[in-house]
Amino acid sequence: MSKVVLKGLSKSFGDVNVVNNIDLEIKDHEFLSFLGPSGCGKTTTLRMIAGFDMPTTGEIFIGERLVSSVEKKIFVPPEERNVGMVFQNYAVWPHMDVFKNVAYPLKIKKTGAEEMKERVMKVLSMVKLTGMEKRYPHQLSGGQQQRVALARALVMEPDVMLLDEPLSNLDAKLREEMRFEIKDIQRRIGVTIIYVTHDQAEAMAMSDRILLLHNARVQQLGTPKDLYERPENQFVADFIGLINFLKIDVTEREGRMMASFPSSPETPPFEVNPENTGKSSEGGFVFAIRPENVKLVSPDSSSIRGKVTKKVYLGNILDYRVALGKEEIRVEASSGEEFELGQTVGLRFESYVLFK
Ligand code: ATP
Repeated sequence: MSKVVLKGLSKSFGDVNVVNNIDLEIKDHEFLSFLGPSGCGKTTTLRMIAGFDMPTTGEIFIGERLVSSVEKKIFVPPEERNVGMVFQNYAVWPHMDVFKNVAYPLKIKKTGAEEMKERVMKVLSMVKLTGMEKRYPHQLSGGQQQRVALARALVMEPDVMLLDEPLSNLDAKLREEMRFEIKDIQRRIGVTIIYVTHDQAEAMAMSDRILLLHNARVQQLGTPKDLYERPENQFVADFIGLINFLKIDVTEREGRMMASFPSSPETPPFEVNPENTGKSSEGGFVFAIRPENVKLVSPDSSSIRGKVTKKVYLGNILDYRVALGKEEIRVEASSGEEFELGQTVGLRFESYVLFK
Protein backbone atom coordinates (compact mmCIF):
# COMPACT_ATOMS: atom_id res chain seq x y z
CA MET A 1 0.00 0.00 0.00
CA SER A 2 1.46 3.34 -0.95
CA LYS A 3 -1.20 5.86 -0.11
CA VAL A 4 -0.16 9.11 1.52
CA VAL A 5 -2.33 10.75 4.15
CA LEU A 6 -1.98 14.30 5.44
CA LYS A 7 -3.93 15.24 8.56
CA GLY A 8 -4.25 18.83 9.69
CA LEU A 9 -0.88 19.61 8.13
CA SER A 10 0.40 23.16 8.67
CA LYS A 11 3.70 24.93 8.35
CA SER A 12 4.77 28.37 9.50
CA PHE A 13 8.08 30.09 9.02
CA GLY A 14 8.29 32.50 11.94
CA ASP A 15 4.80 33.94 12.14
CA VAL A 16 4.08 33.44 8.44
CA ASN A 17 1.75 30.54 7.82
CA VAL A 18 2.62 29.02 4.40
CA VAL A 19 0.61 25.78 4.60
CA ASN A 20 -2.70 25.91 6.41
CA ASN A 21 -4.38 22.82 7.78
CA ILE A 22 -4.33 20.44 4.81
CA ASP A 23 -6.32 17.21 5.07
CA LEU A 24 -5.74 14.93 2.12
CA GLU A 25 -5.62 11.28 1.17
CA ILE A 26 -3.57 10.47 -1.91
CA LYS A 27 -4.63 7.02 -3.03
CA ASP A 28 -2.43 4.07 -3.82
CA HIS A 29 -1.16 4.44 -7.44
CA GLU A 30 -2.76 7.84 -7.81
CA PHE A 31 -1.21 10.72 -9.75
CA LEU A 32 -2.01 13.82 -7.75
CA SER A 33 -0.73 17.31 -8.48
CA PHE A 34 -0.25 20.24 -6.16
CA LEU A 35 -1.10 23.19 -8.37
CA GLY A 36 -1.10 26.89 -7.63
CA PRO A 37 0.66 30.19 -8.17
CA SER A 38 4.17 30.86 -6.93
CA GLY A 39 4.44 30.95 -3.16
CA CYS A 40 1.19 29.09 -2.40
CA GLY A 41 2.98 26.39 -0.38
CA LYS A 42 3.31 23.53 -2.90
CA THR A 43 7.01 22.86 -2.43
CA THR A 44 6.82 23.24 1.34
CA THR A 45 4.07 20.60 1.47
CA LEU A 46 6.12 18.25 -0.71
CA ARG A 47 9.22 18.81 1.43
CA MET A 48 7.27 17.89 4.55
CA ILE A 49 6.16 14.62 2.91
CA ALA A 50 9.76 13.90 1.88
CA GLY A 51 10.99 14.65 5.38
CA PHE A 52 13.10 17.72 4.54
CA ASP A 53 10.86 20.06 6.52
CA MET A 54 9.25 19.50 9.88
CA PRO A 55 5.53 20.37 10.01
CA THR A 56 4.41 22.94 12.57
CA THR A 57 1.30 20.86 13.28
CA GLY A 58 -0.30 17.74 11.85
CA GLU A 59 0.54 14.22 10.78
CA ILE A 60 1.82 12.45 7.65
CA PHE A 61 1.28 8.78 6.89
CA ILE A 62 3.05 6.95 4.05
CA GLY A 63 1.28 3.64 3.53
CA GLU A 64 0.09 2.66 6.99
CA ARG A 65 3.15 4.15 8.64
CA LEU A 66 3.07 7.38 10.63
CA VAL A 67 6.23 9.15 9.45
CA SER A 68 5.66 12.58 10.95
CA SER A 69 3.67 13.75 13.94
CA VAL A 70 4.45 16.84 15.91
CA GLU A 71 1.99 15.85 18.63
CA LYS A 72 3.43 12.31 19.04
CA LYS A 73 7.03 13.48 18.54
CA ILE A 74 7.57 11.14 15.57
CA PHE A 75 9.86 12.11 12.71
CA VAL A 76 11.16 9.48 10.30
CA PRO A 77 14.17 10.85 8.37
CA PRO A 78 13.93 11.20 4.56
CA GLU A 79 16.14 8.20 3.75
CA GLU A 80 13.84 5.90 5.73
CA ARG A 81 10.58 7.02 4.11
CA ASN A 82 11.05 5.08 0.87
CA VAL A 83 10.10 8.00 -1.33
CA GLY A 84 11.88 8.95 -4.54
CA MET A 85 12.37 12.62 -5.30
CA VAL A 86 13.04 14.54 -8.50
CA PHE A 87 13.58 18.27 -8.21
CA GLN A 88 13.30 21.14 -10.62
CA ASN A 89 17.06 21.35 -11.19
CA TYR A 90 17.34 17.62 -11.66
CA ALA A 91 21.11 17.63 -10.96
CA VAL A 92 22.59 14.63 -12.66
CA TRP A 93 26.27 14.38 -11.87
CA PRO A 94 28.27 15.60 -14.86
CA HIS A 95 31.36 13.53 -14.08
CA MET A 96 29.45 10.24 -13.93
CA ASP A 97 28.07 8.33 -16.88
CA VAL A 98 24.40 7.35 -17.03
CA PHE A 99 24.96 3.97 -15.39
CA LYS A 100 26.87 5.45 -12.46
CA ASN A 101 24.36 8.26 -12.01
CA VAL A 102 21.50 5.81 -11.74
CA ALA A 103 23.46 3.29 -9.65
CA TYR A 104 24.51 5.91 -7.12
CA PRO A 105 21.70 5.44 -4.57
CA LEU A 106 22.26 1.67 -4.67
CA LYS A 107 25.97 2.14 -4.12
CA ILE A 108 25.25 4.21 -1.02
CA LYS A 109 23.12 1.32 0.23
CA LYS A 110 26.02 -1.06 -0.53
CA THR A 111 23.99 -3.17 -2.96
CA GLY A 112 25.97 -6.06 -4.52
CA ALA A 113 27.39 -5.55 -8.04
CA GLU A 114 25.16 -8.09 -9.74
CA GLU A 115 21.93 -6.89 -8.20
CA MET A 116 22.98 -3.30 -8.88
CA LYS A 117 23.50 -4.01 -12.58
CA GLU A 118 20.19 -5.81 -12.86
CA ARG A 119 18.23 -3.02 -11.17
CA VAL A 120 19.93 -0.21 -13.08
CA MET A 121 19.35 -1.92 -16.42
CA LYS A 122 15.71 -2.51 -15.51
CA VAL A 123 14.99 1.15 -14.74
CA LEU A 124 16.99 2.36 -17.75
CA SER A 125 14.76 0.23 -19.93
CA MET A 126 11.69 1.69 -18.19
CA VAL A 127 12.74 5.22 -19.05
CA LYS A 128 13.89 4.15 -22.54
CA LEU A 129 17.60 4.80 -22.04
CA THR A 130 18.88 1.30 -22.76
CA GLY A 131 22.14 1.53 -24.71
CA MET A 132 23.05 4.94 -23.24
CA GLU A 133 24.70 3.62 -20.05
CA LYS A 134 28.17 4.85 -20.99
CA ARG A 135 27.16 8.35 -22.04
CA TYR A 136 27.91 11.38 -19.93
CA PRO A 137 25.21 13.99 -19.21
CA HIS A 138 26.69 16.48 -21.70
CA GLN A 139 26.14 13.88 -24.42
CA LEU A 140 22.42 13.72 -23.64
CA SER A 141 19.47 15.94 -24.53
CA GLY A 142 17.58 17.78 -21.78
CA GLY A 143 14.80 15.21 -21.92
CA GLN A 144 17.25 12.32 -21.65
CA GLN A 145 18.95 13.95 -18.65
CA GLN A 146 15.54 14.34 -17.12
CA ARG A 147 14.94 10.63 -17.58
CA VAL A 148 18.28 9.84 -15.91
CA ALA A 149 17.05 11.80 -12.89
CA LEU A 150 13.77 9.87 -12.96
CA ALA A 151 15.62 6.55 -13.27
CA ARG A 152 17.81 7.46 -10.30
CA ALA A 153 14.70 8.06 -8.21
CA LEU A 154 12.99 4.89 -9.49
CA VAL A 155 15.94 2.57 -8.90
CA MET A 156 15.21 2.52 -5.17
CA GLU A 157 11.76 1.11 -6.04
CA PRO A 158 10.04 3.77 -3.96
CA ASP A 159 6.43 3.44 -2.88
CA VAL A 160 5.89 7.09 -3.60
CA MET A 161 7.55 9.49 -6.03
CA LEU A 162 7.65 13.20 -5.31
CA LEU A 163 8.29 15.36 -8.36
CA ASP A 164 8.82 19.10 -7.97
CA GLU A 165 8.47 20.95 -11.29
CA PRO A 166 10.62 18.27 -12.93
CA LEU A 167 9.99 19.55 -16.46
CA SER A 168 10.63 23.23 -15.90
CA ASN A 169 14.07 23.21 -17.54
CA LEU A 170 12.84 21.72 -20.80
CA ASP A 171 11.59 23.45 -23.92
CA ALA A 172 7.88 23.40 -24.68
CA LYS A 173 7.95 20.45 -27.07
CA LEU A 174 10.03 18.22 -24.80
CA ARG A 175 7.90 19.13 -21.82
CA GLU A 176 4.87 17.85 -23.61
CA GLU A 177 6.60 14.61 -24.62
CA MET A 178 7.86 14.06 -21.09
CA ARG A 179 4.34 14.50 -19.71
CA PHE A 180 3.31 11.40 -21.62
CA GLU A 181 6.45 9.51 -20.64
CA ILE A 182 6.11 10.18 -16.92
CA LYS A 183 2.44 9.26 -17.04
CA ASP A 184 3.27 6.10 -18.95
CA ILE A 185 6.03 5.05 -16.53
CA GLN A 186 3.65 5.67 -13.66
CA ARG A 187 0.98 3.43 -15.23
CA ARG A 188 3.44 0.67 -15.97
CA ILE A 189 5.03 0.48 -12.53
CA GLY A 190 2.00 1.61 -10.56
CA VAL A 191 3.79 4.04 -8.27
CA THR A 192 1.96 6.79 -6.38
CA ILE A 193 3.06 10.19 -7.67
CA ILE A 194 2.75 13.60 -6.06
CA TYR A 195 3.62 16.23 -8.62
CA VAL A 196 4.22 19.92 -7.99
CA THR A 197 3.59 22.42 -10.77
CA HIS A 198 2.36 25.95 -11.34
CA ASP A 199 1.44 25.02 -14.92
CA GLN A 200 -2.26 24.23 -15.14
CA ALA A 201 -1.99 22.56 -18.55
CA GLU A 202 0.61 20.16 -17.18
CA ALA A 203 -1.50 19.35 -14.13
CA MET A 204 -4.62 18.90 -16.26
CA ALA A 205 -2.85 16.57 -18.70
CA MET A 206 -1.25 14.27 -16.16
CA SER A 207 -3.26 14.15 -12.97
CA ASP A 208 -5.95 11.85 -11.68
CA ARG A 209 -6.73 14.61 -9.19
CA ILE A 210 -5.47 18.12 -8.55
CA LEU A 211 -5.13 19.93 -5.24
CA LEU A 212 -5.34 23.61 -6.08
CA LEU A 213 -3.67 25.82 -3.49
CA HIS A 214 -3.69 29.57 -3.03
CA ASN A 215 -2.54 31.67 -0.08
CA ALA A 216 -1.54 28.54 1.86
CA ARG A 217 -5.08 27.14 1.61
CA VAL A 218 -6.80 24.42 -0.37
CA GLN A 219 -9.09 26.02 -2.95
CA GLN A 220 -10.40 22.79 -4.45
CA LEU A 221 -9.55 19.10 -4.68
CA GLY A 222 -10.91 17.22 -7.66
CA THR A 223 -10.35 15.70 -11.07
CA PRO A 224 -9.18 18.02 -13.86
CA LYS A 225 -12.75 17.89 -15.20
CA ASP A 226 -14.23 18.88 -11.81
CA LEU A 227 -11.97 21.91 -11.60
CA TYR A 228 -12.68 22.98 -15.16
CA GLU A 229 -16.42 22.36 -15.24
CA ARG A 230 -17.40 22.81 -11.62
CA PRO A 231 -14.99 25.31 -10.05
CA GLU A 232 -15.94 25.92 -6.43
CA ASN A 233 -14.87 29.53 -6.32
CA GLN A 234 -13.81 32.37 -8.53
CA PHE A 235 -10.10 31.79 -7.95
CA VAL A 236 -10.34 28.21 -9.25
CA ALA A 237 -12.45 29.28 -12.25
CA ASP A 238 -9.90 31.94 -13.13
CA PHE A 239 -6.77 29.83 -12.55
CA ILE A 240 -7.89 26.90 -14.72
CA GLY A 241 -8.42 27.80 -18.37
CA LEU A 242 -10.07 30.94 -19.70
CA ILE A 243 -13.26 32.37 -18.33
CA ASN A 244 -15.44 35.49 -18.52
CA PHE A 245 -16.72 37.06 -15.32
CA LEU A 246 -19.77 39.32 -15.62
CA LYS A 247 -21.74 40.95 -12.81
CA ILE A 248 -25.41 40.02 -12.76
CA ASP A 249 -28.43 40.74 -10.55
CA VAL A 250 -30.80 37.86 -9.95
CA THR A 251 -34.43 38.33 -8.94
CA GLU A 252 -37.25 35.85 -8.65
CA ARG A 253 -40.27 36.42 -10.88
CA GLU A 254 -43.16 34.01 -10.81
CA GLY A 255 -40.92 31.19 -9.62
CA ARG A 256 -38.28 31.82 -12.26
CA MET A 257 -34.81 33.15 -11.50
CA MET A 258 -34.24 36.08 -13.81
CA ALA A 259 -30.80 37.63 -14.32
CA SER A 260 -29.92 41.03 -15.70
CA PHE A 261 -26.60 42.72 -16.42
CA PRO A 262 -26.23 46.02 -14.51
CA SER A 263 -23.63 47.04 -17.11
CA SER A 264 -26.04 46.45 -19.96
CA PRO A 265 -29.50 47.76 -18.98
CA GLU A 266 -30.78 47.38 -22.54
CA THR A 267 -30.33 43.59 -22.40
CA PRO A 268 -33.63 42.04 -21.32
CA PRO A 269 -33.54 39.74 -18.25
CA PHE A 270 -32.85 36.09 -19.01
CA GLU A 271 -33.57 33.01 -16.97
CA VAL A 272 -30.76 31.32 -15.05
CA ASN A 273 -30.75 27.84 -13.70
CA PRO A 274 -31.81 28.06 -10.01
CA GLU A 275 -29.46 25.15 -9.20
CA ASN A 276 -26.61 27.47 -9.96
CA THR A 277 -27.66 30.17 -7.53
CA GLY A 278 -27.63 27.90 -4.47
CA LYS A 279 -29.52 28.90 -1.34
CA SER A 280 -29.01 32.62 -1.62
CA SER A 281 -30.99 32.77 -4.78
CA GLU A 282 -31.52 36.51 -5.15
CA GLY A 283 -29.05 39.36 -5.32
CA GLY A 284 -25.75 40.09 -6.98
CA PHE A 285 -23.75 37.26 -8.50
CA VAL A 286 -20.75 36.82 -10.71
CA PHE A 287 -21.76 35.03 -13.88
CA ALA A 288 -18.79 32.90 -14.99
CA ILE A 289 -18.77 31.40 -18.44
CA ARG A 290 -16.00 29.83 -20.51
CA PRO A 291 -15.46 31.32 -23.98
CA GLU A 292 -16.44 28.05 -25.69
CA ASN A 293 -19.76 28.05 -23.85
CA VAL A 294 -20.95 31.30 -25.38
CA LYS A 295 -22.58 30.63 -28.74
CA LEU A 296 -22.95 33.33 -31.32
CA VAL A 297 -26.20 33.18 -33.24
CA SER A 298 -28.09 35.46 -35.55
CA PRO A 299 -29.57 38.48 -33.69
CA ASP A 300 -33.12 37.26 -34.41
CA SER A 301 -32.53 34.04 -32.48
CA SER A 302 -31.63 35.58 -29.12
CA SER A 303 -32.81 38.57 -27.10
CA ILE A 304 -29.29 38.97 -25.68
CA ARG A 305 -27.43 40.97 -28.29
CA GLY A 306 -23.92 42.31 -28.58
CA LYS A 307 -21.54 43.73 -31.11
CA VAL A 308 -18.38 42.03 -32.42
CA THR A 309 -15.38 44.20 -31.45
CA LYS A 310 -12.50 41.82 -32.22
CA LYS A 311 -12.07 38.72 -34.30
CA VAL A 312 -8.93 36.59 -34.56
CA TYR A 313 -8.57 33.51 -36.71
CA LEU A 314 -6.61 30.82 -34.82
CA GLY A 315 -6.92 27.92 -37.24
CA ASN A 316 -9.06 25.58 -35.20
CA ILE A 317 -11.13 28.32 -33.60
CA LEU A 318 -12.29 31.88 -34.09
CA ASP A 319 -11.55 34.03 -31.09
CA TYR A 320 -14.09 36.88 -30.77
CA ARG A 321 -14.67 39.73 -28.36
CA VAL A 322 -18.26 40.82 -28.15
CA ALA A 323 -19.37 44.02 -26.43
CA LEU A 324 -22.39 43.56 -24.21
CA GLY A 325 -23.23 46.98 -22.80
CA LYS A 326 -20.10 48.19 -21.02
CA GLU A 327 -18.55 44.72 -20.75
CA GLU A 328 -16.71 42.62 -23.25
CA ILE A 329 -17.11 38.86 -23.54
CA ARG A 330 -14.59 36.51 -25.02
CA VAL A 331 -16.12 33.90 -27.31
CA GLU A 332 -14.43 30.92 -28.91
CA ALA A 333 -16.28 29.48 -31.86
CA SER A 334 -15.10 26.29 -33.49
CA SER A 335 -17.90 25.96 -36.00
CA GLY A 336 -21.08 27.57 -37.21
CA GLU A 337 -21.83 30.86 -38.80
CA GLU A 338 -19.03 33.43 -39.06
CA PHE A 339 -19.58 36.99 -37.91
CA GLU A 340 -17.77 40.16 -38.91
CA LEU A 341 -16.33 43.07 -36.95
CA GLY A 342 -19.02 45.59 -36.01
CA GLN A 343 -21.82 43.12 -36.65
CA THR A 344 -24.67 42.75 -34.14
CA VAL A 345 -24.94 39.17 -32.94
CA GLY A 346 -27.16 37.15 -30.66
CA LEU A 347 -25.57 35.38 -27.68
CA ARG A 348 -26.60 32.10 -26.17
CA PHE A 349 -25.14 31.01 -22.84
CA GLU A 350 -24.51 27.31 -22.40
CA SER A 351 -23.06 25.87 -19.18
CA TYR A 352 -22.00 28.57 -16.73
CA VAL A 353 -21.44 28.94 -12.99
CA LEU A 354 -22.63 31.66 -10.63
CA PHE A 355 -20.55 32.85 -7.70
CA LYS A 356 -21.85 34.93 -4.82
P1 ATP B 1 7.02 28.23 -6.23
O1 ATP B 1 6.11 27.76 -7.32
O2 ATP B 1 7.47 29.64 -6.41
O3 ATP B 1 8.12 27.28 -5.91
P2 ATP B 1 5.54 27.22 -3.93
O4 ATP B 1 4.07 27.19 -4.02
O5 ATP B 1 6.26 25.94 -4.10
O6 ATP B 1 6.09 28.33 -4.91
P3 ATP B 1 6.80 27.35 -1.37
O7 ATP B 1 8.17 27.18 -1.87
O8 ATP B 1 6.16 26.23 -0.67
O9 ATP B 1 5.85 27.88 -2.52
O10 ATP B 1 6.80 28.63 -0.43
C1 ATP B 1 5.64 29.08 0.25
C2 ATP B 1 5.98 30.35 1.01
O11 ATP B 1 6.87 30.06 2.06
C3 ATP B 1 6.65 31.42 0.18
O12 ATP B 1 6.12 32.67 0.53
C4 ATP B 1 8.12 31.31 0.57
O13 ATP B 1 8.76 32.55 0.47
C5 ATP B 1 8.04 30.85 2.01
N1 ATP B 1 9.17 30.01 2.43
C6 ATP B 1 9.55 28.84 1.86
N2 ATP B 1 10.62 28.32 2.50
C7 ATP B 1 10.94 29.20 3.48
C8 ATP B 1 11.94 29.23 4.51
N3 ATP B 1 12.84 28.25 4.64
N4 ATP B 1 11.96 30.30 5.34
C9 ATP B 1 11.04 31.27 5.23
N5 ATP B 1 10.05 31.30 4.31
C10 ATP B 1 10.00 30.28 3.43
